[in-house]
Amino acid sequence: MSAAVLDGKALAARMRKDIKREVSALAAEGVVPTLAVVLVGDDPASRVYVTNKERDCEKCGIRSIEKHLPADASQAELEALVEEFNRRDDVHGILVQLPIPKHLDERAILDLIDPAKDVDAFHPINVGRMVRGDGVLLPCTPAGVMALLDEYDIPIEGRECVVIGRSNIVGKPMAQLLLARNGTVTVCHSRTRDLAEVCRRADILVSAVGKRNIVTADMIKPGAVVVDVAMNTDDSGRLCGDCAADVADAAGFLTPVPGGVGPMTRVMLLRNTITAARAQNAKASK
Ligand code: NAP
Repeated sequence: MSAAVLDGKALAARMRKDIKREVSALAAEGVVPTLAVVLVGDDPASRVYVTNKERDCEKCGIRSIEKHLPADASQAELEALVEEFNRRDDVHGILVQLPIPKHLDERAILDLIDPAKDVDAFHPINVGRMVRGDGVLLPCTPAGVMALLDEYDIPIEGRECVVIGRSNIVGKPMAQLLLARNGTVTVCHSRTRDLAEVCRRADILVSAVGKRNIVTADMIKPGAVVVDVAMNTDDSGRLCGDCAADVADAAGFLTPVPGGVGPMTRVMLLRNTITAARAQNAKASK
């Protein structure tokens, strides 16, 4: 048996079409949804991510403004830039590409972004709203996973959901979103005693570790839904996830890597930018 594919690439393409239509509707109201992207330093991976995000925006008619600061930029310079974008009425979303150089205080920068423009949804106000269950801007990766589960009509309520990983950007918010939909959620991490045993309980297993082959077929309840968030590289430098190849034989549904969660994360950033632009436009026209 081979698992059915949870095709994030196809869903993201459909969502981009809807977003394009929404951009046109906003244009008719005189609003050009705009995302400000801040890149600090010359990390090649960050450069690629930022370029991809800008390209995604362009394809949907969302304007992007990039500000590139040198690797030795000061905290004050970066804060001044964020504050400038906070003030500008023509900027609806602000994204500071992480990680930023170590001499800078990442938390202080994320806390400074106007929560209404916080399209990564890392600001404590947006985190708090998500935990309370009334978040509007939700973190892109877990929100993308939820959209994918919904697309395939995967029931969540009452089901055993196991999330491997407890980072602030993936594991913790993933657990919260599943909980908000009445899943029975267990979060595993590097100190979990018997990972395989816990995973075998899962009707829905989300792996966000970043270690190739950490999830194997013997850890999967037959027919379970497996979402592989990770982006690792194999020995030949190809992108791969946390799941070993044999997981496809045990799971009922599986996200491919690439083509599963990655495209969903990217499209959710566009969705958040539109949501932010709409909300700011509605507030301005009151
Ligand atoms: P992270 O901050 O490094 O978190 C990894 C988590 O895995 C930690 O909570 C860690 O536990 C846990 N872990 C490590 N070893 C483990 C083990 N042996 N058993 C169980 N848990 C273990 O990483 P992240 O930012 O959440 O990202 C996770 C993966 O997702 C990475 O591959 C990343 O590239 C990928 N990612 C993909 C997307 C996408 O769009 N597809 C988006 C974001 C991230 P501790 O907390 O105890 O250390």
